[in-house]
Amino acid sequence: ARTFFVGGNWKCNGTSDDVKKIVGVLNGAEVPPEDVVEVVVSPPYVFLPLVKSLLRSDFGVAAQNCWVRKGGAFTGEISVEMLVNLNIPWVILGHSERRLLLNESNECYIWNIQLLCFSLQFVGDKVAYALSQGLKVIACVGETLEQRESGSTMAVVAAQTKAIAERVLNWDNIVLAYEPVWAIGTGKVATPAQAQEVHTELRKWLHENTGPEVAASVRIIYGGSVNGKNCKELAAQPDVDGFLVGGASLKPEFIDITRDRI
Ligand code: 13P
Repeated sequence: ARTFFVGGNWKCNGTSDDVKKIVGVLNGAEVPPEDVVEVVVSPPYVFLPLVKSLLRSDFGVAAQNCWVRKGGAFTGEISVEMLVNLNIPWVILGHSERRLLLNESNECYIWNIQLLCFSLQFVGDKVAYALSQGLKVIACVGETLEQRESGSTMAVVAAQTKAIAERVLNWDNIVLAYEPVWAIGTGKVATPAQAQEVHTELRKWLHENTGPEVAASVRIIYGGSVNGKNCKELAAQPDVDGFLVGGASLKPEFIDITRDRI
């Protein structure tokens, strides 16, 4: 059975005082045991050590991004090695805000010391490198409204998943997050049927391309305007194995979302 997974993506929000308040709420909350619901929160980089030091140990911590390869002369980036050094077990990769605002899905060219240029498929390579160094990955896929309306939802999420599958053999440490862009931060949540439909298709895709065991065991979670009210119906869908929560993860309501299974 797939352990239900609830992630809180705090995005680029808050001060250290806000962080302390949120962690205080989380630490005092009664939630199902870890083998029933796995809870992971993802603060902005600068607050990772603070959260790591204050947060209860049954909750995981995730970074929101990382550099694609070994660290070095990459100004402004944070390496996988640094996350490992801080004992941060998880990283969110391929979030649509990074794909769309920072062109992360586009090919990226890197020059090495000999001025040889090579290209990277950014998200797939990041996932592979993070896994290779022992991190667990929440890998995000999802279509825009335009793509949904033109009927290409499945083609888009399959291509995004393929970019990962091409570089990754072992899916044990990956959680796949389906986050339709039109549902993120809009209050326009996917219906349970819409979420289930894409999750089923993704599982079918995994079955055909990575095999039955991966398809049966990988958790596919939903993200996009999840809140304390709509989570129950979504969680009741057989292929919705949890959530990646944005806005509501900054509020006490996040606790309700972790409890919707009990
Ligand atoms: P919202 O829950 O604010 O829509 O954000 C979802 C999300 O992007 C989580 O990664």
